[in-house]
Amino acid sequence: MAIDAQQAFAARVTEQRRTPHTTVPHVIAGRTYFDGQAIQREDPSNPNLIVSACHDAPADLVEQAVAASREAQREWSRVPLTERIERVRRAIPFIEEHLDEWAVRVALEIGKPYAGALAESAEVLEIVRHYTDYASAPGAFDDERTEDPAGLANDSVLRPYGVFGVITPFNYPIVQAAGPTIAALIAGNGVVVKTAHDGPWSGHAVYELCEAMGLPAGLVNVIHGADEPGRALVASKIDGVAFTGSVAVGKSIVRDFATGPYPRPVIAEMGGKNPVIVTDTADLEQAADGIVFSAFDLGGQKCSALSRVLVTPGAHDRLVELVEERVKALKSGDPTDAGVFAGPVVSADAVARYASLISAAKTAGFQIETGRAQEGGYFVPAAVISGVPAEHQLATSEHFLPFLTISEVPTFEAALRAANDTDMGLTAGIYTGDVEEAREFLERVEAGCVDVNVPGHATTGWWPGPQTFGGWKASGTTGKQTLGKWYFQLFGRQQARKLPA
Ligand code: GLU
Repeated sequence: MAIDAQQAFAARVTEQRRTPHTTVPHVIAGRTYFDGQAIQREDPSNPNLIVSACHDAPADLVEQAVAASREAQREWSRVPLTERIERVRRAIPFIEEHLDEWAVRVALEIGKPYAGALAESAEVLEIVRHYTDYASAPGAFDDERTEDPAGLANDSVLRPYGVFGVITPFNYPIVQAAGPTIAALIAGNGVVVKTAHDGPWSGHAVYELCEAMGLPAGLVNVIHGADEPGRALVASKIDGVAFTGSVAVGKSIVRDFATGPYPRPVIAEMGGKNPVIVTDTADLEQAADGIVFSAFDLGGQKCSALSRVLVTPGAHDRLVELVEERVKALKSGDPTDAGVFAGPVVSADAVARYASLISAAKTAGFQIETGRAQEGGYFVPAAVISGVPAEHQLATSEHFLPFLTISEVPTFEAALRAANDTDMGLTAGIYTGDVEEAREFLERVEAGCVDVNVPGHATTGWWPGPQTFGGWKASGTTGKQTLGKWYFQLFGRQQARKLPA
């Protein structure tokens, strides 16, 4: 990263910290509202400082947002696909202009260091480019069938559902709101976005970029708040929901959407308990680099983060050593400081959960090695816990924290079984020098996104364009992935048509 870009970013953040915080409004049909109880978002690096505020949208406002979207969607669904694509593309220059500004918001609201924060804005840009390209491809939305024995003209087209609710998590407060919103719009739907509780100002960027598209007022509405507005959105008459967040909430939405007059689509991207397998033949330096990055980038607060290492006996001791060495060298600090790898975790609650995990690991007698953490704020050191049986609860439940377990397993076969012995199935990696093992892993591992001997990343680093991203089992509901060319098709339903030729 260029030093002056880093310095310019740091200067912007410092300036922003001196400026009174922004209160983001709910926006419905182009009008702003401040209804509901006020919620303030503190800077996780310095919790005495308030960086943004919003209001907890009451249920009637959520209903109003859905109604506004429904009204505007009727027109939008009649706008030809090519024009919808063109409108969405209009946001590109606007996004380009705001990359740095949005990175500042993400750094301040959730403590994401510069490189990741800037990557988040850049990912929005890539998503717009790729989704509009995919949607432009012949056959993306229609299937022409001209041959018909009865002489009928047949075809099949993808039609919108109506209004989608988009419910987003804190770790990618812009991307996870923007991705589904853009896909839903291209497919002809209206959208009500509920931003992340810990990142409303970042999430609000999605409203701003939709405004830059010049969409009909009310087609995209944004509401803020904690859990209640999300629940109200799910309880409303929306036609589908795109949810990114925990398995527990995702499953409850699936249950709610299965009842009512008819089941409605739930496009959910949920958690992960992502493993990496390391075997005796692996390049252990490469494995340790990938492991440390994927386990501790963003403090392990990614669905794709690595949280458990399954390593065979010949590689175990050396791998533990290499991982611990690297963890001790990680630089923790304010997201603006040059060279910082680890910012704070998201909240005081996350700090408390981390402390209780460490104390459970101590009680169990496992070996604990930690890096350094900046004093104050919500900073916690990256923790490597070794000597943990693969089936131990600390190695099998999702923590969403910088807490990595290393388990020695007798064979590659045992590692593969342990890797799959979970309800989750988002990402998984392997480091091995054995082609057969790599092949067997690819054949049998139960995960939507897999890495084989990838330098720098063991399980993370999924990016629009080269990759798609989504989970199997409890990690996702659709079997189709975000970032990919089939994703936006989830926001449409097929209509087969036959007419006299
Ligand atoms: N794009 C992210 C990565 O793989 C994953 C998103 C997430 O974990 O929520 O690095």
